[in-house]
Order: sequence, then structure tokens, then C-alpha cells
Amino acid sequence: MHQLVIHYQQALNRTIQVRLEGRASEILTFEIEALLLKSEKFIHNLALNGRPIQPEDGRIDIPPGNFFLTYEITSPYSVLVGANVDLAVHYPFFNGHEIHFGSGVLPVIRDYEKSSAPLHYQVRFEGIPDGWSIISNLPVNSAGAIVPTQQIAQVFVHLSSDLQIFHSKCGRFRVALGHGVQPPLAPQEIFEFCQSSIEFQEKCFGRNPKIRDLSILYLQAPRGFKALTQGQTMAAGQNYTGGIAIFGSDEVENYGPLGHSDYLDFVLYGLHHEIGHAFTSAGPARFKSLLYASGDCPKADRFRIGEVLNIYFNPATRLLFQESYPFRLRTWVETLYQKALQKKPSMLMDWFLFDCALRSESGIGLVDVFRQMLEQKRLEDSPYDSIESVFDAAERITNRRPHDFLRRKLTQPDPETYAEQLDYALASIQESRDTLANDREGTLQFFLGERSVDDRKS
Ligand SMILES: [Zn+2]
Repeated sequence: MHQLVIHYQQALNRTIQVRLEGRASEILTFEIEALLLKSEKFIHNLALNGRPIQPEDGRIDIPPGNFFLTYEITSPYSVLVGANVDLAVHYPFFNGHEIHFGSGVLPVIRDYEKSSAPLHYQVRFEGIPDGWSIISNLPVNSAGAIVPTQQIAQVFVHLSSDLQIFHSKCGRFRVALGHGVQPPLAPQEIFEFCQSSIEFQEKCFGRNPKIRDLSILYLQAPRGFKALTQGQTMAAGQNYTGGIAIFGSDEVENYGPLGHSDYLDFVLYGLHHEIGHAFTSAGPARFKSLLYASGDCPKADRFRIGEVLNIYFNPATRLLFQESYPFRLRTWVETLYQKALQKKPSMLMDWFLFDCALRSESGIGLVDVFRQMLEQKRLEDSPYDSIESVFDAAERITNRRPHDFLRRKLTQPDPETYAEQLDYALASIQESRDTLANDREGTLQFFLGERSVDDRKS
């Protein structure tokens, strides 16, 4: 067991001290991703067994034996500025009310998700200022004490003098509002929304044992935050094992490009999307998602399955619990047509074309394949290696391998012919059933199949 202690004694002077102590039975290589940032320096005074070290590539090799690694985290920022656009580093910030750090500043084992002898960290916080409280996604026992964990690569630890924490009646999750946050809804309504989102997603995609005790942190980057980092950061939402965070600012420059009409839409569907990542995620996800990629899985494949599939089913699950949501299949198809004319690669388009082709070829929809993939991972907790896992799942349902022309929709998409393919795809699904109807039922049936729609009615 490795002891990871975060000392807050100097926190009001804008410094947190970190000490990792343990025993290496063979050479251990830790990585602190923040060391790779070129323009920002958050990690200082790094020392191994009391001797200063200066790793060049963010990697720290620990020889066998007892060791202790110490360093300090500081930050020039006094407000939330989000995460680096290229590296998974959340920029820490300190002010008179809040001390925040997250992913990228703790020492993690490279490829820890593949490790056969996983390292367990016992995390402790010391020297928390009187009257301040903490919210984190780190796992706690029923008495509220942090339990040993393997997973510190994706973490948030938010300490505040005036944290408002609201516990849901069901006890399954809590929401903490950061200092000065102005939510568009009452905390109770945020709970209820999250509750509905979990219920509906489980109804559509099956029970998900990885949605357990959720800590939801709600912070708000200030307007114009990107200027503070010369555009090097973004602030949206993030999912963690045991947690979700909302970071975005209330300004159209931030939520507009993410496809949201207003801040309320950004917050609600940000939460819904992050809950959806308990089913599939593109990042390190062994502990938090049913479907997760192996270390060998090509990046494009993990993004296609982990991120884009979540987005693909999002409109339908939104419709299920939000009658007023204006989404219609016809609107969506029109959007796809506009994209097709640009002839640029679009993974959403690829999934839609694949979905339509699969329906006309074998009578099953993408949702059936997705459910099958999830079903299998409920039985065996293992990663997928490539996009082939989609074809494997289709084969398990239909007892035959999907045709090459179908597979190419995902393995060799051709943006030049998107418009042509769309015409063909739409003709094929209209022939089989009238799914282009400009109504909820048509859209739900298209994305989720008959079964869920019927379930909902009963
Ligand atoms: Zn996402």
C-alpha cells in the first residue's frame, strides 16, 4: 500500500505539499502529466528520497526499495480556468475561499489500467484549514473515510470555506456548489435531473453497476477565462470514477461551440452526457465505464466508441425524459445533410450510416449492438481492442459477420460520398418503416428500437 498525503498547511500561501511513500518491489515508473506542460509550471521542488530530481519527460523512475517522493503544487491562478486542451491536466487554483486541484498533478503509474499487480494508494489530507470542507471523487466508506484506491489518475479535490453540499434523498449522489456559483436551477432540481438521467439511461441500456456513489461538483469558470490562459484551456464537464464535474462558464462563447443553446442546456445535458460515460468512455475508464478501451486500442476507435456513441444516443435519451426537448429525427437528418455537403469526416455521420445499413441488412439497430456490447461487459470486465468489437457484437446477435460494405462505414468512411450515402440510407430506412416522422415516437424508435419505446408506455 502506498501512502499519498496531501498537506494543506501552506495552502493559504498558495502551496500544497504532496508526499508519496511506499516500497517498490521492482522499478516503478510514475508520471506527473503536469510536468509536460511547456508554458505552465505547477510542480515545484520535486525530490526523491530527499534528493532533488528534474525529470525531463514527466516520468520518475523509482528503484526497488523503500522510497518517498515529495513536491509542491502551486498555481498563479485564483479562479477556475479549466483543463489543458492537449494534456489531461486540470489547472489548480487558489483563492481565499477555495483550493482546487485535479487530474494531472498527482504521480500515477503509467498504464496502470493494464497492470497485473495494481498499486493501491491510501490518500490522506492533512492540515485542512478550520471550518473548510472537501468534496472529491475519491472513494469513501460509510463513515466518510477515504478508502484505498487504484485510481488517482482522474481526480478532483475541491476544498472550500463555504462549500454547499446537498445530499440526495436516495443517498446515491450528492451535489456540491462551489464558491460564487450561480446555477440556473435549484440544487434539488439538479438532483432530480440527475436521478432521471440515471434512471432513463439504465432503462435504455441496462443496469449499470459502475454508477455507484456519485459526487457531483458544480463549479463555474468566470466569463472570459480563456484569455487568462491565452486559450490553452477549456472548461466543460468531466466524468470520473465516482464523480462528475461541471466547469463551464455562463457565456455563449463557451457553451455555443459545444452545441448548447443556453447555459441551462449546457448544465443539464452536460450532466446527462457525463452520466452517459458510465456506459462508454474514450479516456482511461476501467473503473468508471462498462465499455472501455485497452491500451492497444487505436485512438480513433476509442473515440468513436467511447465518445461519439454516447453523443449518438443522447438525443433519444433526452427525449425520453424531457417532453419539451425540441429534438426531432428530421432536424437531425437535416443537420447531417449540411455536414455531408462539407465533405469533412464526421463520426456521428459514420454511426448513422452504419446504423441505417445494419437495419436494412439484418433488421437490428445500432442500439441492439450497443446493448449487446454492454451486456457482455457486465458479465466479463475486460477492455475492447478496436472497432472490431462492434462487429463481434453484431455477429453475436445475428450469427453472421457483418458484410464488408457495412464494416467500411466505420473502418474506411468516405466523406466525399456522404451525401450520396445519406440518400441511400434514408431511402432504406423509410422503406422498412416510417421512421422519418416528425415526432418523438419516430425518433425514439429510430435510436432506441421498439423495445424501449414500449417499455416506456407500459
Ligand atoms: Zn464526453
